Amino acid sequence: MEYRDIPSVDRLLKSPKFTMLNRDILKRACHIEIEILKKIIKDGSKDVDTNNLTDLILKRYKLISTPTLKSLVNATGVVLHTNLGRAKIDKELLKRAVDMAGGYCNLEYDIDLGNRGDRSYHLENSLQKLFGDIGVLAVNNNASALFLILNTFAKDKEAIISRGELIEIGGSFRLPEVIKSSGALLKEVGTTNKTHLRDYKEAIGTNSSMIIKVHKSNFHMEGFCSEVDIKELTKLSKERGLIDYYDLGSASIEEIPHIIDSHISLKHILKQPPSLLSFSADKLFGSIQAGIIIGKKELIKELKRNQIMRMFRLDKITISILQQSVEAYIRGQTNTITTLYLLQRDKKELYTIANSIIKRSKKELYTIDTVGYTGGGTLSNKELPSVAIVVEGDSKELHKYFRQRGIIGRIEKGNFLLDMLAVTKEEIKEIVEALDNL
Ligand SMILES: *Cc1c(COP(=O)(O)O)cnc(C)c1O
Repeated sequence: MEYRDIPSVDRLLKSPKFTMLNRDILKRACHIEIEILKKIIKDGSKDVDTNNLTDLILKRYKLISTPTLKSLVNATGVVLHTNLGRAKIDKELLKRAVDMAGGYCNLEYDIDLGNRGDRSYHLENSLQKLFGDIGVLAVNNNASALFLILNTFAKDKEAIISRGELIEIGGSFRLPEVIKSSGALLKEVGTTNKTHLRDYKEAIGTNSSMIIKVHKSNFHMEGFCSEVDIKELTKLSKERGLIDYYDLGSASIEEIPHIIDSHISLKHILKQPPSLLSFSADKLFGSIQAGIIIGKKELIKELKRNQIMRMFRLDKITISILQQSVEAYIRGQTNTITTLYLLQRDKKELYTIANSIIKRSKKELYTIDTVGYTGGGTLSNKELPSVAIVVEGDSKELHKYFRQRGIIGRIEKGNFLLDMLAVTKEEIKEIVEALDNL
């Protein structure tokens, strides 16, 4: 077969199989499949068959017409999986939030006064019910929170930070680079493993404006190491007239025994609040992507005045979801914060789901005890007891098979596992179907 034997796009378009289809997408599908054929011919393959070309085009058409973003089952054993969209949001909560803000709403409208309001008012109002009279500002993500704070208070001025906290987190987000791009002058103190309070004290000069503390997030140090507690940095900053800022990365409203430590609980930290702190709303907080800044009201006011804020501000749907999440915390309905719900399930519940899958499936399967992770930065190395179903066979092939069916498992010691840590009973049917079609 040669190039000239390939039917033309015009001829292909006339196929009766293609009536009713969108012409533009169809043309794209034709071109793609013809290119593939040409490449096969060029590579020297003799037995090229054009009889099923229309079927291949139809398949390609379907592929192009389907939106690429799909829902997945997270059987990886990592609850806050950055690649899988971090926190899962409760369907009811999401619906309420979207219904509320999807249409016209009082995003920036003061209903009492009948004039312009402030979009950050909504979240601030809800968080004040939990933490009293604090200032709140939410932006696109925690990286923008960090950038905004530095750009506002440390442009052309020194921001002091420990060498042990100059971290890189996923997606090549490097703290020193972000600090530099904000216009702040990075003033490193201490060493990789040890930083003392005196290191900070000695570094403070006439051009210093802030002391930053960053949660180590996705790594931890053991052995000969020490760092300075945020409380001490807050005290020092106050004495020397500086702003202390704590980038928590992942934080939660309150501590949960064995799962969320007090040092990342906002209730605990805000007993002696730093001037400013920020965290990601889609990590342990369990809501949508955003960066939440909490701090002194006069500082928050200054942040709002920064022109860059216009680029970082949130849309109405995000604000609505964040407010619904905080209101769920206020009502004590932490089961609707899906991340917390998943993290608090015990092994018995995970076994129930695994066994239900095994019972319904026609395949020979068995369970093993595993170790899962919180994920999402802070406490990402925290181990959580979990349960997985072992699917026997070529693990790489199995990983691919399940991937294509929207189920993401993991390979451990050569075995393909479906870890139950982040799987819910609503997903049992989908998993059983994929297993039985194997
Ligand atoms: C995750 C994290 C960030 C970045 O947060 P995003 O919301 O992903 O922008 C910044 N700092 C720390 C310490 C983090 O853990």
